[in-house]
Amino acid sequence: MFLTISTTGTAQRPATDLGFLLHKHPEKAQAFSTSYGRAHVLYPEADDSRCTAALLLEVDAVALVRRGKGKGRGGAPDAALAQYVNDRPYAASSLLAVALSGVFSSAMRGACNARPELPGQPRPLRIEVPALPARGGPELVRRLFEPLGWAVTAEPVPLDSAFPQWGDSRYIRLVLDADTLTVAEALRHLYVLLPVLDDAKHYWVSSDEVDKLLRAGEGWLPGHPEQKLITSRYLSRRWSLTRQAMDRLELVRLAEADDSEVEDIDNAVEAEAEQEEKPTPLAVQRREAILAALRASGAARVLDLGCGQGQLVQQLLRDPSFTEIVGVDVSMRALTIASRRLKLDRMGERQASRVRLLQGSLAYTDKRLEGYDAAVLSEVIEHLDLPRLPALEYAVFGAARPRTVVVTTPNVEYNVRWESLPAGHVRHGDHRFEWTRAEFRAWAEKVAGRHGYQVDFLPVGPDDPEVGPPTQMAVFVTGTAQEAKAA
Ligand code: SAH
Repeated sequence: MFLTISTTGTAQRPATDLGFLLHKHPEKAQAFSTSYGRAHVLYPEADDSRCTAALLLEVDAVALVRRGKGKGRGGAPDAALAQYVNDRPYAASSLLAVALSGVFSSAMRGACNARPELPGQPRPLRIEVPALPARGGPELVRRLFEPLGWAVTAEPVPLDSAFPQWGDSRYIRLVLDADTLTVAEALRHLYVLLPVLDDAKHYWVSSDEVDKLLRAGEGWLPGHPEQKLITSRYLSRRWSLTRQAMDRLELVRLAEADDSEVEDIDNAVEAEAEQEEKPTPLAVQRREAILAALRASGAARVLDLGCGQGQLVQQLLRDPSFTEIVGVDVSMRALTIASRRLKLDRMGERQASRVRLLQGSLAYTDKRLEGYDAAVLSEVIEHLDLPRLPALEYAVFGAARPRTVVVTTPNVEYNVRWESLPAGHVRHGDHRFEWTRAEFRAWAEKVAGRHGYQVDFLPVGPDDPEVGPPTQMAVFVTGTAQEAKAA
């Protein structure tokens, strides 16, 4: 599997700037291991006038099969999946997309510390993929790439050039040219659109495909004339495939595991750290603290934003004072697990009428979230990239505007107290940041000021005299809610 990115340049704007943009030095051939095999980055040409970077992925079919088993503990190899492996090493453009995001992750984000001015500048770009599986053919390739500013050359590859009568294969040779796009934009287009064109099945098991799509599609996917096709193909390619495997794995795991086992990894870390003295796990203390804050606010209709696998929703359901409970998450996988945990399909009508699970991203305003008494953001904000946080702030505090908002997040100062946590590490691989008490307070006060809320802070878990509590909680209340309570 092979893809090249080329640019041209001048002595003032040398083509070799591509090396800075991709974070890969043009004079070195480099290799990276990915989950599916080895990825190589090399530069067949690199001078001021022309520079080409090539990404070559050697797929490891064995790793692919092993991945197919997913994260299941000791699950049996799935023979039904093995059939999909055969032509993967040569054809899987979707794996190329995964490699692309692994090898060029900083480039995709448009980061370049060495030359911060570079990523924002469009430059002449040519992308070539000699053999791209393209369901929908050259026609669809054009419909996908042309609206983004690419000039598209898409030629069908004959099945065998010696036997033209055999016709075309399902592969095309793709050449894309543009001079109005940045390297980051180009990479993000490829990351989404290669799998969309690939008719093959995928293996990777990840809980936030929707989030990834929204992130990579930022700035170009909304409003794309083929937005619907792109979204449904991107997700169903992964879901139709992974779902069979995952549902089975998940069912096996759920059948074997008690609730604590399906909890988030951070809860597991916390539970482990606290096992010695056997106090209540932090996740449980956190839910208790949130429930107490919600009860004190008098809320009846509650949103659990970023509800994950539904533990809090389950607990809210047990208290009849909460008459309407809505769990929202961007991850379909989390929602699937949540609905199983709640046994939504077997719930009596009355209970069922109190609860709903919605899929949606908190980075966008959403009419469905308006008019509630309270919203909870439990261990959610730290999962967003900092630059996306203002979008969530606006969607929740500006647009949805519940009277009470309860926010919890880890207190990074406390991390020195977790014995199992290596120094300088965050508690969960997906945490984009973790804040000190001062940082959280500053953020919360800014948000409260901007959107007309009052905010109070409460510790959750043992309040260490030096480093504070493991979880910090802020309770925001609108002016009107405060007056109502006083009256
Ligand atoms: N509230 C739960 C889960 C926390 S894990 C608890 O306290 O245990 C963070 C959750 O936020 C994940 O389920 C993740 O899918 C969700 N999430 C992350 N970014 C999101 C976004 N932009 N919109 C909606 N949910 C998001």
